[in-house]
Amino acid sequence: MIFPELSKKISTAIIALILFAITLSFVSLVNDIDQKNIDEFNSPFTINSSYFIDKSNNADINEVLTSAQFIESNINSIPYALAEQSYWIKLSLHYPIGKSLLSVNIQERRAYENEHLVLMAEHSMLDSFIVYELGAIKAPTILFDKSLTDLEVSQNVYPAVNLELNQFGYSEYLIKLKSSGPPNIPLQLFKPDDFEQRLLLSQLIYGAFIGILLIIAIYNLVLFFAGKDKVYLLYIGYLISAFAVLSSLTGYGYFLFSEQVMHLLNQYLIFNDFLLIIFLLLFTLFFLRYDRLNHWAYKVCIGFVAIISLLALYSLSLDELAQTKLFFSIQPLFYIVALYLIFNRLKQDFSWARFYFLSWLPLFVGAIIQPMVLLNQLEYSFLTGHAFLFAIMIEVTFMAFALAERIRRSEQEKLTMIAYHQSNHLPRQTNLEHKINEILKDDIQDFTVIVIKPEQFQRIELYIDEQTRVKFIQDLNQKLSSLFRFNDAVLHTTDQLEKLCYLENCSLAMVINNVDNEQNIELFIHSIQQAVQDVYSIKNLKLPLSAFVGLATYPEHGSSSASLISNASIAASNAETSQSKWTYYAQKDSENSPSSIQLAIDLEQAITHKGFELFHQPQIDLKTNKVCSSECLIRWNHPVLGAIYPDVFIAIAEDFGLMPSLTLWVVETALTQQARLTEHTGLNHMVSINISGKDLIQANFIDDVAGIISRCDIKAEKIIFELTESISFAQNNIAINTIEKLIELGITISIDDFGTGYSSLSQINQLPFQELKIDREFVEDVCSDIKRKVIAETAVKMAKGLGLEVVAEGINSALDEETLRSFGCDIGQGYFYAKPMSYDDYLEWLNNLTNGQIPKSLDGEFIPVDK
Ligand code: C2E
Ligand code: MG
Ligand code: MG
Repeated sequence: MIFPELSKKISTAIIALILFAITLSFVSLVNDIDQKNIDEFNSPFTINSSYFIDKSNNADINEVLTSAQFIESNINSIPYALAEQSYWIKLSLHYPIGKSLLSVNIQERRAYENEHLVLMAEHSMLDSFIVYELGAIKAPTILFDKSLTDLEVSQNVYPAVNLELNQFGYSEYLIKLKSSGPPNIPLQLFKPDDFEQRLLLSQLIYGAFIGILLIIAIYNLVLFFAGKDKVYLLYIGYLISAFAVLSSLTGYGYFLFSEQVMHLLNQYLIFNDFLLIIFLLLFTLFFLRYDRLNHWAYKVCIGFVAIISLLALYSLSLDELAQTKLFFSIQPLFYIVALYLIFNRLKQDFSWARFYFLSWLPLFVGAIIQPMVLLNQLEYSFLTGHAFLFAIMIEVTFMAFALAERIRRSEQEKLTMIAYHQSNHLPRQTNLEHKINEILKDDIQDFTVIVIKPEQFQRIELYIDEQTRVKFIQDLNQKLSSLFRFNDAVLHTTDQLEKLCYLENCSLAMVINNVDNEQNIELFIHSIQQAVQDVYSIKNLKLPLSAFVGLATYPEHGSSSASLISNASIAASNAETSQSKWTYYAQKDSENSPSSIQLAIDLEQAITHKGFELFHQPQIDLKTNKVCSSECLIRWNHPVLGAIYPDVFIAIAEDFGLMPSLTLWVVETALTQQARLTEHTGLNHMVSINISGKDLIQANFIDDVAGIISRCDIKAEKIIFELTESISFAQNNIAINTIEKLIELGITISIDDFGTGYSSLSQINQLPFQELKIDREFVEDVCSDIKRKVIAETAVKMAKGLGLEVVAEGINSALDEETLRSFGCDIGQGYFYAKPMSYDDYLEWLNNLTNGQIPKSLDGEFIPVDK
């Protein structure tokens, strides 16, 4: 762990050092260039200069020489301004002060005559640059004229002329300057050797610039083809326009293109400037992903770009001066917008935009300095005069990093999409599985997977929006994460050192190393539940709820990551069902679990092949002690697993949509047996059939039931349908409609397991029931348990008050029977009379009774058992 970290730091330091060294040598190179030009301190001659500004722009040399008023000035202090005007400069060279033709000897004179100076106009877009040599007696002669067509390429880029002292120690020149681009025309004097070197150095810098731009453009092209992201094309657009602008401004384009092309580029310089900011703005917008953010700034910027584009087109109809003014008035606005976009993004996510931000710093500085030099607001030096070129050079280098970071980021996002949940951004289950697999490979042999299921959350979810839901889960995660931050027994599941993972059923899961866990597990779970309770609030509504916790320990409760997580989830659900707050996984828990898909397959087979049996449990009229009815209870004899109880497979049948066909088999069998039973025994016997809530919303249920009734030739009045009390159908209009139709058919509707559900008796009264079955939870041992007694008595009395028939299921003794009879209960059912038995056994059991009546000798004893 430490070694790669260290080597990473060392290599970063080395790269930083190399970059620093390159920057230093580059700065000294640029500095060297600036050192080369001549000023009054290092000149071999005395230099005098004066200027005249021809505002009319049409004076010729004779007029200028005869009538122009020249103003004394240093050649670098001529007030160039953004206007259509020409500049005439008189430049004279003579022996240094104190020396004259008479005072210098012949040797010195030779030496001075050998001295040359090169005058360069640092401007590649000159309309005119004419240098005349003035003589005392002879007419002015042209030394250099930029407008001549047979100039060498380098004379276009570096327009320059040789100056020397004549034999009298005095030379005078007249220079005419007019710019077709930026107004500032820096005039520089060099010694010939220095001039050569200066040219070489500046060509080297241009070469480096073009090279970098080319490489970055190709790099972006490759990225575009690799990722098809238009942001790279926009950047190439920006690079091309920056290249075009700078090829005009610096003149290096003359090395690459023909004069005609350069003429065009110079002509469209401002238009290219517009293109540059359009591309840069679009690039910024897409690079920082405003298009995906759904941010207002996106639309505003697109509008702004559209306006700039129109202005760019409009600028083509203007003269150069007006174009330039228009562009420079728009430029500050562009920088404000661009900086807003960057800072806004930086505020949200610094690491993501940092290189991009860094790349803008030089660009911003360069973009302020360069126009100031061009407009003659700032003194020219090679560095300031090429500020924009350097700025772009540094900018594209940083941008290469920024683009690389962006790629890394999108790769990471792809990974995050797999490893992290889309909406709540918590680690997904895969992280936990991965961690467990790692542990299994390691030596940790004793660990527990813990699933934390927020209490009632699946119901609360129905009332809240997605945002609230996500916030709740995130709050929960945060609270629990801080609880476990310093607990080393709770293991990290991700590289980001997160400990909790989100499971799709709205639970959180983690894994603890039991060896390291010094805390008592009960206390540990209590701390979890306390934390959940503390944070359990929805939209500031503090709820008195906590969490159910399920645990699965390796290897007892599973040998693979998937089985351990799934079993811990089952345990959490089981804790919820049994209201025991927390529980370890137990084998039987999984019988209802989604992993019982095999059971569903077998169940489907059993339905097709009628692999069930119907058992009967008698119900006794407590007034007459006569058997008045039997409850039909389904039994499944699984070919491999043996007898499986309805508590297990009914839920599966409901989950897998198998209930309707199963119920129809039950109804058909029950009614057939009822018909035979009545025929056989002649008893006044009714039949009670359990119906699932799912059956009630089945479209053909009524027709199917009616069909079976008529086929079996049985009176509907002899049938009772038991419905388990549940909210699901009480509030479902289709279900209520079905119940009403069943009642119309003549069927009695009984409410089963009363007391275990949610509804109060008054709610039930709104529904059309005729019978109420008090759950055995309140009936078993009712005689000895005061609490049950109160509940059972109240339930019976209230139900009787509502005119309902009351059945008590789970009567276990004569005393229970007596107690319920005393409350006014009508019917009894329970092991005290008989356990559920097969139809044949039931017939035999009935035959053993006299007149269908339970003998008095039953006192406290159980008779026939469930076979
Ligand atoms: P239930 O309708 O409340 O049925 C009564 C359950 O209590 C039966 O369990 C019965 O064996 C049991 N029982 C009866 N007297 C006593 C007693 O004195 N002590 C104890 N401890 N238990 C007693 P069983 O047969 O396992 O059925 C369980 C549940 O499965 C039923 O509860 C019912 O909700 C459902 N079920 C059974 N058969 C069917 C069916 O054909 N269709 C549907 N939809 N559900 C069924
Ligand atoms: Mg029942
Ligand atoms: Mg029941």
